[in-house]
Amino acid sequence: MIQLTDLQDNKFLAEVNKISGSNVLECYQCGKCVSTCPVSSYMELPPRKIMQAIKLGLKDKVLSANSSWFCLTCSSCAARCPRQIDIPKVMETVRHMAIDEKIYPESRKINEIRKFHDIFLNMVKHYGRMYEIRLMAEFNIRTGRLFKDMALAPLALGKGKLGLLPEKTRNKAAIKKMFKLLDKKEK
Ligand code: SF4
Ligand code: SF4
Repeated sequence: MIQLTDLQDNKFLAEVNKISGSNVLECYQCGKCVSTCPVSSYMELPPRKIMQAIKLGLKDKVLSANSSWFCLTCSSCAARCPRQIDIPKVMETVRHMAIDEKIYPESRKINEIRKFHDIFLNMVKHYGRMYEIRLMAEFNIRTGRLFKDMALAPLALGKGKLGLLPEKTRNKAAIKKMFKLLDKKEK
């Protein structure tokens, strides 16, 4: 039988709680997060199960599940969670732990999500903002589908939804500082 004290000794749980700033132990498995999550049906472990597996210290199971990669960070779950758990932050924590430990679920979809994630962060690092045309082009090149969605580009350009040139943040120093802190944290 699992005792509460066993759960509190659980290093994985403690680490997730510390990084995410949430207390996953508070989850009482009501499932409201699952009913509101738009992508829970794609997840190997929907949010409620992720919480349970974290509580049980099932690190490998949590890190290798596709769930954190499918999370859209939309916060619908957090808005309904009666225990005020920051579920998207927990998902993000798990995703970064998986990246740190180089544990990637084997699927083409997840590979693409990972590539998108890397390109997205790179854009933020360089411009401090999103540069959609470059993001699309780089993503298409890295996934080997050169012309994917390209037909939509002229339409989006014409409507001013895409800019040909990148916009840059005025506060470059803040972005630099943020990534420096992140690098330090990862070492
Ligand atoms: S809504 Fe909150 S308390 Fe309910 S299962 Fe999800 S995380 Fe746990
Ligand atoms: S934040 Fe993630 S887990 Fe929560 S509802 Fe949105 S997609 Fe689902």
